[in-house]
Amino acid sequence: MSVHTLSRRDALKLGLLGTLGSAAALGTPASAATPAEAKSGANGKIVIIGAGSAGLAVAARLNRQLSHPDITIVDATTIHHYQPAYTLIAAGVKEEEYPLEPNADYIPRGVKWVQEMVQSVDPDANTLTTHQGNTITYDYLIVAPGVKLDYHKIEGLTPEVLEADNGIDTIYTLEGSVRSWDSLQKMAEMAKTQKVTALFVEPATGMKCAGATKKILMLSEDYLRRAGVRENVDLRLMTPAGRLFGVDTYNSVFEEIFTTREINHEHNITLQSVDAEAKTARFVHEDGTHFDRAFDFIQITPPQSTPEFLAQSPLAAHNTFMKVDQYTLQSEDYPNIFGLGDCVNTPFGKTGASIRKMYPTVAENLIAQMEGRPLQAKYDGYTACPLLTRYHNAIMVEFGYRQPDGSDTLLPSFPLNPTKERWAFWLLKVIALKPMYYKGMLRGYA
Ligand SMILES: Cc1cc2nc3c(=O)[nH]c(=O)nc-3n(C[C@H](O)[C@H](O)[C@H](O)COP(=O)(O)OP(=O)(O)OC[C@H]3O[C@@H](n4cnc5c(N)ncnc54)[C@H](O)[C@@H]3O)c2cc1C
Repeated sequence: MSVHTLSRRDALKLGLLGTLGSAAALGTPASAATPAEAKSGANGKIVIIGAGSAGLAVAARLNRQLSHPDITIVDATTIHHYQPAYTLIAAGVKEEEYPLEPNADYIPRGVKWVQEMVQSVDPDANTLTTHQGNTITYDYLIVAPGVKLDYHKIEGLTPEVLEADNGIDTIYTLEGSVRSWDSLQKMAEMAKTQKVTALFVEPATGMKCAGATKKILMLSEDYLRRAGVRENVDLRLMTPAGRLFGVDTYNSVFEEIFTTREINHEHNITLQSVDAEAKTARFVHEDGTHFDRAFDFIQITPPQSTPEFLAQSPLAAHNTFMKVDQYTLQSEDYPNIFGLGDCVNTPFGKTGASIRKMYPTVAENLIAQMEGRPLQAKYDGYTACPLLTRYHNAIMVEFGYRQPDGSDTLLPSFPLNPTKERWAFWLLKVIALKPMYYKGMLRGYA
């Protein structure tokens, strides 16, 4: 199985989806102001930490909405990764180069780019320092450094182990996705002659794209079935969560998929260590007791926290994520500071699609703050992801903050049953979303 080519019929369907998708899929347009509206004359030096999905999008939007923008982005990274493609690479659908673009192409004209990493931030003094020892002052700060991947918190999971050809994989890095695809092919080959155990592990911390582990698990299941070796592989999700999905509606959908396709799942357990030689993984229960599980392949989504400068600052909550008002995205303690993207401590929102709703909210509220007006834009918790259930099928999962009575808030962008697997959503994911991301969202248009 490799990259799938498009038939004319596919292309026609995609045209329709593209039209729909331009208003949806990565999130319906936020209620916040559009670039076409009048510019603000508000003044002040804005510094943005992080030139990832969130930092670039909010920089582009503010650059359009201010008549005299004074914006500086701080981030040493030169190559931008469209991370949602990692799952596709791990499933053999896209090549390694597919997600990559130069960051320089997305720094908006007129915006200053300091190519250094932030070492510390002092929100009482309105300053930050970089690893090179430079101090940068600001009037307004936007914090968007994403998350840090804490593989080292799993005993035995050294960089050498992760880089070796040993069936211990992760789709959370580009290199890891490439190796994961290699492992999936080896798994199918091995299962021709023997029983195989493959574990798919979720972390106990907040994680970006909470569906990613399940996506590669379901795609692996489909790949093995198509290869005719499914019955020889024990596929098993190992998760600290008490159930498959945090949103009731989708939890029922995934319960049914896992049952029908005989995918096993074990709950309320956390991966503690991996023994690469013995090929065993140790899991701990909530009461501290543990058990070891032998594997042939293990796919690991790592624990995640925020970069040290944020985790150690007064901006962070106890879990290292940034304390913000979940609606306005303003710092709880510092009115001139806002946060967005994976680094914030909102109940939902760790997807690129969430950022599509967060960045217009932050831009509008920051300008209101600069102008001394009340903050009116609200992020509704929108979180979305085309959950790839098999090759050529996906469910468009879209939801927001829970209702006051605790029930689900579904936020479907399409007038379709949101719990059904559809080929159209596969096409959207595989073909339309990356151009929308780079051409629309990172330029502050969509
Ligand atoms: C496997 C996988 C699958 C995914 N699938 C989907 C999907 O299907 N749909 C979806 O919507 N989302 C998906 N996502 C999630 C999406 O990619 C993220 O939510 C999004 O990229 C987060 O954007 P961000 O700007 O917060 O962080 P990032 O895009 O990670 O950017 C953070 C930036 O901050 C910089 N930075 C970090 N520390 C510092 C520092 N000290 N100083 C300066 N800069 C710093 C980094 O260099 C980086 O450039 C997926 C992610 C993964 C890993």
